[in-house]
Formats: sequence, structure tokens, C-alpha cells
Amino acid sequence: MKKELSTNIVDLSRILQEKETEIELLQQTFTEIGSELDLGRVFQIVSDRARELINAETLLIPLLDDNCETYTYRGGSGKNASEIVGESLPLEFGVCGWVWKHKKAWWNGMLDQLDDEEKNRWEQESGNMILVPLQGKRHFLGGIAGLDKIGGGGFDKKDLNLLQLFASIVSVAIENAMAVKSMEESHKLNENYRLRLEILNKQLTESSKELEYLSLYDSVTALPNRSLFHDRLTRDIADAKYDSTTIGILLIDIDSFKDINDTLGHDRGDILLKKIARRFERGIKNHETLARLGGDEFILVLPGHNEQQAIARSTEFLNSLKDSFVIEGNNIVVTASVGVAVYPEHGDEFSVLLKHADVAMYEAKNSHINISVYDPDNDRLEQGHLSLVSDVRKALEEKGFQLYYQPKISAQTGQVVSAEALGRWHHDKRGDVSPKIFIDVLEGNGLINEYTYWAIETALAHARQWQRDVVKLRVAVNLSPQTLMHPDFRENMDRIIKNREDGELITFEITENLFLSEFDRLAELLEHIRALGVELSIDDYGTGYSSLSLLRRLKVSELKIDQSFIKQMVGNRDDKAVVHSTIELAHNLGLSVVAEGVEKKSVLELLKKMGCDTIQGFLISKPLPFGKFTDFIRKGRV
Ligand code: C2E
Ligand code: MG
Ligand code: MG
Repeated sequence: MKKELSTNIVDLSRILQEKETEIELLQQTFTEIGSELDLGRVFQIVSDRARELINAETLLIPLLDDNCETYTYRGGSGKNASEIVGESLPLEFGVCGWVWKHKKAWWNGMLDQLDDEEKNRWEQESGNMILVPLQGKRHFLGGIAGLDKIGGGGFDKKDLNLLQLFASIVSVAIENAMAVKSMEESHKLNENYRLRLEILNKQLTESSKELEYLSLYDSVTALPNRSLFHDRLTRDIADAKYDSTTIGILLIDIDSFKDINDTLGHDRGDILLKKIARRFERGIKNHETLARLGGDEFILVLPGHNEQQAIARSTEFLNSLKDSFVIEGNNIVVTASVGVAVYPEHGDEFSVLLKHADVAMYEAKNSHINISVYDPDNDRLEQGHLSLVSDVRKALEEKGFQLYYQPKISAQTGQVVSAEALGRWHHDKRGDVSPKIFIDVLEGNGLINEYTYWAIETALAHARQWQRDVVKLRVAVNLSPQTLMHPDFRENMDRIIKNREDGELITFEITENLFLSEFDRLAELLEHIRALGVELSIDDYGTGYSSLSLLRRLKVSELKIDQSFIKQMVGNRDDKAVVHSTIELAHNLGLSVVAEGVEKKSVLELLKKMGCDTIQGFLISKPLPFGKFTDFIRKGRV
């Protein structure tokens, strides 16, 4: 009895000690994971402590995945644990599936509550296992599983109770740590979104900057465009109003740019515009604006400039074009006309000033002066060339154009050898409009072919009349490159020039710029025209970009030295040298030479001495209407 009692006391004290250890373990676990938010650490502590608590060989923490279709071993401790942790299985699989389904713990004692069939199945599958559910405050989380008791034997009811108690304590900690983890993840996701958003924002700013650039700058020249120019001038006007100062506005238009574009092609035309822009740019100061208005028009806003200063600057800009431009080995000579308007004299708001600069530029072109200042008294030009297109169209429809004829005489005999047909247009309100202007408009609006065929037919009719009534002479008609290179040109020539007799009354004046493009096609075309009896003459020679060696390959018979070399040649050594060597070279190639723009006797004498063949100029006669020219040739010689 005494022995029995002492055994009982020993047992009791062992049990009490065990209890104490268990409570200590639970407490320790609780303090350890209570403040732990790192999920990996929480799983590690829980599995280690639980394994200790129930003396299991292996302890695992299977948790339900977010998809609610699988579970994954998230933590583990003991034998083989590291191999199992991380593995995922379908929900219905194994003991876990049973626990999920019944939301109650599994241990061997459970077998007694099952029917025979189930018992058989689970006995096999569960082996020596205990699995208690982990129920969080908000969700069912999964479970804690112990496998195989250390030292053999099965898990008993006590283990079950302990593990259930343990699970209820740690579930909250696990749930919290999981919430923190998912918060961290969504924070990370947020951060990623934020970064992505930042990048997108940056891209957006960049593309809106690009858009802003595109909307304010011209894509060809990179100069400010019309709308930025509008802003700048408006701002400068406000400043000038406040400071009571003036502003010079220069509208620069490149002469015959359409010709350049037609012959060089648009790509090279763009390159040329860029180069012109760079030259002009060199001449501007910080607070000044250089913009491209479109096409071949540039505009300059020069704060603080009066009329005199604006004219001086115009000269500088024109001078900057003096050196020829080189594009793909071709020398290109560019001239321009400048219209000047001054604030506040010629207007005190943007649109008025721009219009008046435009009118002045038109005047410069019309009267062949390089620079023209807006003249308020000249209301004839007030309309500028804004409504010019419709007037030109109308003139074409109503046959409002005329041809005047300027004689070309033999330098040696003074005899009239041929005539140049020059277009004339008298407009009721505009007065006489220069062909430089209306030909430009015709070319720019697809009307030049119709005009040119009219000119050829008219010149031919007149030449036939002179042949019949006075003398046989060739009439030279100026051809635009556009017309010559048009696919229908050949057919039209065959239609207008019916036979060789007709052909022998016509010369075509073409510019040397033509030879840069489609040389082979051009050569073949010119050959065809020559076969009709027509002669070919190179107009304005010396201002373009061709070489005499190219001319040799074309069936050209005449070369007209541009008047800019002729006019002052007597006093200018350079001009004299150019004229002299051109005559020599042309003669070597079998070409006859015409000097145009001869205004003085001294020039005529010098040209004669140099062996120039033909003379054209005001000294001989200005261009004359048909009747007057008929009278002129009746006289026979000068
Ligand atoms: P262009 O073919 O070089 O014609 C010669 C120009 O020089 C003519 O100007 C003529 O009046 C002018 N001129 C002749 N002698 C003298 C002189 O001694 N001194 C001065 N200062 N000028 C002289 P216009 O008639 O104003 O024609 C200008 C340009 O317009 C022509 O230059 C030609 O390129 C073009 N053009 C005229 N009529 C036609 C036409 O029917 N068709 C085409 N495509 N172009 C034409
Ligand atoms: Mg000509
Ligand atoms: Mg000429």
C-alpha cells in the first residue's frame, strides 16, 4: 500500500513536471511568436515547439492556398521536413482533406468512430499521424500535423488536447503574420505600380514635350513655326508697347524655290531649307526670333529695330545667302526677297504686321528689288498675294495673259535674229503683275501646263504671221521644269508642233537646274523635241548648278548668260572673267552665246569684243506687244 502510494506520488510529480514543461513551452511559444511578424520565422517556431510538445519525429504545417483548391506545407521541423516543405497537394488529398472537410482533428483514436470501410482506408493512409485544424479568427487556415512519435507508439488523447490547445494559441499569430505578409506583398505590388506609374508619367511628360515641340517647331528646319512665331511677336508687341520701342519684322521669301524643289526633288529641297535656316540662324541674336512660316517663307522678329535698322539687317540676311549651297556635290545659288514691316508704324497687332510684311515682300518680288519696306500709300498692293491664286486662275480662264516679245539681235550685224516671248498680265486693281509672281502662282497651283501650252501656241501663231508678213525668226518660249518633265508633255508637243516648219519657229528656254534630275529621261525628251526642229536654249546660265560637260550631252544650241553677270561687267573684273570664259567654253562646245540684260552701249561693245553672238536687253528694246514688235522687225535692224 505504501509502495503503491509512493509510486503514485512519483507518477504525480512526473505528471506535474511534464505539465509545467508543457505550460512553459506554450508560454515561451506564445511570447516568441506574439511579437514575430515574419511568417517564415513564425512557421519555424511553431513547428519546432509543436514537435517538442508532442514528441513527434516530424512536424508539418499544411495551409490552405488562396485558390482554395490546394494546400501547401508552409512550415516543418524534424525528419524529412525540409523535403516536404513547399510541396502543394490537392485539397481532397490524404488526411488533410479529411480534416478540411470535417473541420476537426485527426488522430488514431478517430478510427474507432469510423465505419469499417473508412476505418480500413484511413488506417492505411494515416499511418501514425495527428493533425489538428488551425482555425484563424477570420478564416480556416489549415492545420498542424505530427508524424510518428519519438521512441515509437502512437499519439494519444493527451497529445491531441495539447496540440489543439497549441493550435488555438498560435493560429492567431499565424493569421496575423500571414496578414502582414500579404499586406507587405500588396505594398510591394503597390510600390511596383507606383514605379510603373512614375515611368508612365515620365513617358507621358516626354511625349507631351515632344508633342509640344511638334506643335511649336517646324519639323524640317527645327525653327519655331507659325504658332510659336505668333506667340513671340505678340509678346514682343506687348513689351514694345510698354517700353515705347519699335520692332522690325522681315518676311524673307526664297526666289524660285518651287523650281528648286521640282528639279532637285523634295528631299533635297528640304535639305536646302535646313541649310538656309542655319545660315539665317547665325545672324540672329538672343532675343530675336527666326521662324519658318511654311513653304519657302522665313520670318524674323527684331525687337528694337526701326526701319533703317531693319533694312540693314535684311541686307545682312540676303548677303548670308551669297555663297552657294552644296547639296550632294551640286552648287546651288539661292536668292531671296525681303518684305519689311515695322511696329508701330505699319501696324500694332500681329495680323496687321504680318499682312503688311507680306505685301512688302510681294512688292519686292514684283518690282525685282531685293528688299521692300511696306508703303501704306501703295493700296494697290494692299490685297497682297493672298487672293492672287483666284485672280490668276480667272486670268487663265478668261485668256487675260498676253505675250510680249523682246528682240535678240546679232552682236556683229545688229540684225534681229530671234525674239523671247515674255508673259504679261495686267490686272485692273493690281496693275501690271510681274511674271516672276504669276508664273510662281501658276506653278504652285498646277496651272502652269495650261498656261505654257497657251504660250507656245500663241508664240507659234505670231511667228507664223511674222514669217508670212515680215521675216522668219524663232520665238523663244520659257518652259517651266514642271511642264517639261510632265508625262504628257511629249504628246502635247506633237499636237501643237505639227511639222518641222512649225518646229523651226520655236526655241525653248530652259533653266540649267533641270539637269540635276532624271538626266537620261530629260536627254531623251530633248532629243525628241530637237527632232521636231525646235532649238533649245539654257536660260539664266551661271546662276544654276549644272556643268558645261552635262550640257554637251544634251542637244542644246544656245546659252544665255544671266543678266546679273552682264549688267555691271564693264567695271567688274570677276563678272568680266566669268562672261569671257563662258563665251570661250560655249564656243568650244559649239554653242552660241546670248547676253541678256544689256542696258549700256559700253557693255555691248565689250561683249562684241569678247565674241558674244547675240544681244538681248533694254538697250536694244524692252519687251513689246505683238503689234509694236511687228513694227520693230519691219525696220530690220538696230
Ligand atoms: P527670263 O526668261 O530670264 O527673261 C528675261 C527677263 O529679263 C525679262 O523679265 C525681261 O523683261 C528682263 N530683261 C530683259 N532685258 C533686260 C535689261 O536690259 N534690263 C533688265 N533689268 N531686265 C531685262 P520679265 O519679263 O519680268 O520675266 C522675268 C522672268 O519670268 C523671266 O526671266 C522668266 O524666267 C519668267 N517668265 C516670263 N514669262 C514667262 C513665261 O511665259 N513662262 C515661263 N515659264 N516663265 C516666264
Ligand atoms: Mg528666258
Ligand atoms: Mg533669263
